[in-house]
Amino acid sequence: MRAVTLIAGDGIGPEVTAAAREILVAAGAPVRFEEVVAGQRAEREQGTPLPQAVFESIERTKLALKGPTQTPFGGDYRVVIECAGPDGKSGKRSYPSIAIALRKELNLFAAMRPVRNYPGVATRFEHVDLIIFRENSEDLYLGRERMVDARTAEAIKIISVDATERVTQFALDCMKRLGRRKLTIVHKANVLKMTDGLFLRTAEDVAKAHPEFTVNQRVVDALCMELVMRPEEFDCLLLPNLYGDIVSDLAAGLVGGLGVTPGANIGPACAIFEAVHGSAPDIAGKDAANPMAMILSAVMLLRYMEEAAAADRIEAALTAVLREKHSVTRDLGGTAGTRAMTGAIIERLGA
Ligand code: NAD
Repeated sequence: MRAVTLIAGDGIGPEVTAAAREILVAAGAPVRFEEVVAGQRAEREQGTPLPQAVFESIERTKLALKGPTQTPFGGDYRVVIECAGPDGKSGKRSYPSIAIALRKELNLFAAMRPVRNYPGVATRFEHVDLIIFRENSEDLYLGRERMVDARTAEAIKIISVDATERVTQFALDCMKRLGRRKLTIVHKANVLKMTDGLFLRTAEDVAKAHPEFTVNQRVVDALCMELVMRPEEFDCLLLPNLYGDIVSDLAAGLVGGLGVTPGANIGPACAIFEAVHGSAPDIAGKDAANPMAMILSAVMLLRYMEEAAAADRIEAALTAVLREKHSVTRDLGGTAGTRAMTGAIIERLGA
């Protein structure tokens, strides 16, 4: 049994992580969950949304399954880390959100988000099979913002050669492993000539050493247009942090919405698996959340652990439930709740 940290998170997080946990147990996956609390409950009970126990657990397990955590819109909310992180960094550091704090503190420099059609999930497009690689550690998400005066605010965008090189190399390594051939580098270098210019140039330089891949580039706005017209023409996308965040949601919309797209945040020492979606406060606590994105994030975790048999079984059970359409949530056109859909998948695992 491999220990894995479990963070239920906020909003629909506890519902969808419970679903993923039950399904892993039912599939006999060799995983033992070590649950830690982060988010609003931790803030209420422990006075911080991201307690040291979270880092201690992930330092031990190296792997986590995380539900979404909520961040207020606007205001001066910051997640302050006062303890030394697993990488030994000490002193006070502050971040715009829990998710960003975890990615930065744990050096989870790349996000990987597969986006594809699933049988039984009705969408406007067919043959979508994308992998999004998002740089996870810099860009505008460092949260270096300030009010210049009462009517003007500014933010600093950081792009470095080192971070761009490592995420590009990561993307190419994954593509090689997965048999993918075509990488599109996404940028806005026509306007952000230095920052995005550096991202584009650096990514292209890294890719040049790998002539086995076809590499092209797109300006992010043009890419969005092409994705909503001909998504099947794209294979893998490499994006800086902000565009990666936005295009991930757009791409989720191509294949059935945020309820279906999983993700992983990967670093040299550890990895956190979490859905692309947020805490969905509008449907939280209503047994209405689609658990599929979190279940598929758990499947990615199992594949990362090289537990392909359990991963295959879960995916097959999920696919069967999607095909039947009787026990799927409302966002997929059904009437089932989170628990009923989870139960149907578990039943299929036993079939
Ligand atoms: P959201 O992803 O929570 O919700 C957007 C829309 O998609 C909502 O209508 C919601 O009901 C729907 N949706 C999302 N997941 C769903 C699911 N599994 N099943 C069915 N419908 C689903 O985005 P938001 O409303 O912009 O953000 C809410 C909060 O989540 C914010 O505080 C934000 O900061 C946070 N957030 C956290 C993470 C993370 O922890 N990694 C990621 C994104 C957003």
